[in-house]
Amino acid sequence: MTFDYDLFVIGGGSGGVRAARIAAGEHGAKVGLAEESRLGGTCVIRGCVPKKLMIFASQAGNMQAEMQGYGWPDAKTGDFSWEIYREKQDAELTRLELIYRAGLERAGVEVHDQRAKLADHHTVELADGTRMTAKHILIATGGRPAKIGVPGEEHAMISDDLFLMDKLPKRVLLVGGGFIACEFATILAGLGVDTVQAYRGDAVLRGFDREARDLATLQLSHQGIDLRLGITPTRLDKGADGITVSFDDDSTDRFDAVMFATGRDPYSWGLGLENTQVKTQPNGAIIVDEWSQTSVPSVYAVGDVTNRVNLTPVAIREGHSFADTVFGNKPRTVDHSIVASAVYLRPHELGSVGLTEEEAVLRGPVDVYSTVFRPMRSMFAGSDARMMMKLLVDPKTDKVLGCHIFGPEAGEMIQLSAIPIGMGATKAQFDATIAVHPTAAEELVTMRQPSRRHHGVPG
Ligand code: FAD
Repeated sequence: MTFDYDLFVIGGGSGGVRAARIAAGEHGAKVGLAEESRLGGTCVIRGCVPKKLMIFASQAGNMQAEMQGYGWPDAKTGDFSWEIYREKQDAELTRLELIYRAGLERAGVEVHDQRAKLADHHTVELADGTRMTAKHILIATGGRPAKIGVPGEEHAMISDDLFLMDKLPKRVLLVGGGFIACEFATILAGLGVDTVQAYRGDAVLRGFDREARDLATLQLSHQGIDLRLGITPTRLDKGADGITVSFDDDSTDRFDAVMFATGRDPYSWGLGLENTQVKTQPNGAIIVDEWSQTSVPSVYAVGDVTNRVNLTPVAIREGHSFADTVFGNKPRTVDHSIVASAVYLRPHELGSVGLTEEEAVLRGPVDVYSTVFRPMRSMFAGSDARMMMKLLVDPKTDKVLGCHIFGPEAGEMIQLSAIPIGMGATKAQFDATIAVHPTAAEELVTMRQPSRRHHGVPG
């Protein structure tokens, strides 16, 4: 049987673009790709990239305080102009989008700027009704923000909307305690918006190391965010003067805007999966094996739609590995067990790799090397901000099981720590490394004694 394409990719985000480019450009496959919105996907258009730019924009207040602490009493930031920022941001995203398109075209990928769905195991149908066949189909449709199902929530924004606002609201409620909610609260407060963050748990960033979570929770409050823990909205009412939100502790409050950052669902609906035997989990995640192959041999899926580790570099690696395996005769799988990540808060970020202290304890005995201190740079400027470095070590093998850093540029530091930890480095090897002085990161190689030892939780 002959096909129109060797590979058809649905979704032009992190995973889909990488898979298409490698399959066509490096392995000579004939590839088609459909994108219903903008090439680059969540990361480039409404995620990592614009968010990080906004984090940079929002740190002016902290920089001003620091400069004053260093002997510049007149250092002033003045007023932030959302209009100027927005224009620059939009231009940057368009520039990146064009780079993505050019990369695909250079590799010989045929791009279809419309929605696509599966008509059967080898056929894709575009929104205009055109049908095309492919030997392999890759689903890389990502995820979509989820709300919590309370009356009036249609009046609330989702994370996508942050990047498209015409003007900044004066007073905003952010609902959620995950990394997107915390980063957005940091951004909005930093840009001068009166920011309330409501989260049902007792500390933000569930799933991260507890000690780091407590420091992050404290920092958010110190950054001028009105963080309300243990509560969740029960209804939203829109009136002439904004949105009134009722909470489950019987309180009410009024906001100019409300934003839900309450998780993301795999975007697998409306994809024509009912025309196939592709299996999904109850939350819509497409079930795949370690080769990213679905229950249908000709159909593969990568990235957030599979809900494995929902981060851009993971989607990229999955897409690349798929293309190498299926078209390049270089079979390779992705190790999801050690993936470093960062949460971009200000002034201190959180960088994590490997097991948290809580996970390590469940696994067996663990030595915890942890230090919390005021870093030289901000302490001199008069700040009370605390930094944390933590290494979790298996006392039997001396292997470093996890590393958690809460401090300035922790994202940059954890990227480097992820290399030895991924290679299976021991604590003795960390200790053998001579420190770079004076840095904050030198603490990673100078912690001599464990601050505590856990014997592990049996069972
Ligand atoms: P996506 O990048 O979402 O791409 C999917 C594409 O498919 C989209 O362009 C969509 O329009 C298209 N599509 C969907 N359905 C169809 C269809 N039927 N037909 C045609 N096209 C379709 N990750 C990090 O690593 N670091 C971060 O700092 C970070 N920050 C984030 C901040 C925010 C606010 C958000 C929302 C996410 C962030 N992420 C971050 C996560 C990261 O963006 C995702 O993990 C990554 O984009 C997933 O890539 P993907 O290829 O699976 O999907």
